[in-house]
Amino acid sequence: MQSLLRTIYDDVKPLVGQGKVADYIPALASVDPNQFGIAIFSNKGELYQIGDAEVPFSIQSISKVFSLTLAIKHYGEGMWQRVGREPSGLPFNSLVQLEYENGVPRNPFINAGALVISDMNQSRFASPHYAMSEFVRRISGNPELKTDLKVADSEYEFRHRNAAMAHLMKSNGNFENDVEEVLKSYFANCALRMSCVDLAKAFNFLANKGFCSISNEQVLSEQEARQVNALMATSGMYDEAGSFAFQVGLPGKSGVGGGVVAIVPNRFSVCVWSPALNKVGNSTAGVAALESMTKHIGWSVY
Ligand code: GLU
Repeated sequence: MQSLLRTIYDDVKPLVGQGKVADYIPALASVDPNQFGIAIFSNKGELYQIGDAEVPFSIQSISKVFSLTLAIKHYGEGMWQRVGREPSGLPFNSLVQLEYENGVPRNPFINAGALVISDMNQSRFASPHYAMSEFVRRISGNPELKTDLKVADSEYEFRHRNAAMAHLMKSNGNFENDVEEVLKSYFANCALRMSCVDLAKAFNFLANKGFCSISNEQVLSEQEARQVNALMATSGMYDEAGSFAFQVGLPGKSGVGGGVVAIVPNRFSVCVWSPALNKVGNSTAGVAALESMTKHIGWSVY
């Protein structure tokens, strides 16, 4: 496994830094694009890593999987009344579908869907960001995880598009709480800082039938874990989910901080990070690394 990581690293090195770091969140614009790391955490508890795998970064949209997991644990099947399970085929922050689908977002991984999930968690927890970050500390085994308040504040300052989605959903009766409060906890979740090692560990329950071997808990049932993997496979990579399935063939979730997590069911979870993004907002080197990985090992869910 370690020599596989070395091969991937060498394959992908020329692509590191290609693309553009996310600058629509001003506090993210100053991140050095020439960083690259990979971590693999196997279902047997083995950890493999290379490059900048221990450098914490802003997890951004990857947090949507954690929030969704908390909502599923509490609301079960009932939650699917408020958010769909279909790929959107539109940019992650698009408003148009909400208008003609009565304020029910297409899936939990576009921003509108993640905001509805945050609203559900707001109804349930006194401090939803505290609940989410404590949950992630537990399943990653890292009690030191921190939220970057500068990133969260910067997103809140430029919140207008996300606020517009939330208000539109509220006008359709699909939003229970105060919009500003929900936006704050959503941005705080996105601003959690984790490394590839932390994320590979925290996502392992999805490779392991819902069971987290670090915290020794059944996080989701086997069926629910399979469902989350299916949503990641169909909607986890912005409007590039189809190409990602075609080229990589694994459930994946990316964030504009440059992280990409992927699941090899029953084997391992992997996280790749490199901040420079391609046109749709996925890490250029990250996607290439996962493609190189599946090519070399010949594993895919398809
Ligand atoms: N916090 C970001 C936003 O709401 C998430 C972006 C992402 O990683 O997709 O725009």
